[in-house]
Amino acid sequence: MRLSEAIRLGAMMRSQAFRTLLRDDGACALGAALLAVGARPEEAVRSALNRWPWASTVSADCPRCGRSRTVFRVITHLNDRHRWTREQIATWVAGIEPADVLQGQAPLGLAPYGADRGRGALAV
Ligand SMILES: [Zn+2]
Repeated sequence: MRLSEAIRLGAMMRSQAFRTLLRDDGACALGAALLAVGARPEEAVRSALNRWPWASTVSADCPRCGRSRTVFRVITHLNDRHRWTREQIATWVAGIEPADVLQGQAPLGLAPYGADRGRGALAV
């Protein structure tokens, strides 16, 4: 399942949460994606990295403030800082994510995230 689809699906399962990935009555955008694919909370971060590896290795600019960071971090940043709805975030992700056949590869036009900038770190 594409990351954008998982965010949209999970958003229908639980209300939006902020500054936390998952809790009993809420989920942020990334937490919603993990809900949708049935990831267990204790394995949430590893599940995200395994399913959508491109999102931890590709950087993107925040569409609101322009700061560059990994896609996973832009997702949590849009959720927590700019309070975008998860549907808005899913639409943004859909515009940059690779097609399924290219899962794990960097989308065209986006540079790989530099190793000197803390690759793999997830802000949750
Ligand atoms: Zn921003």
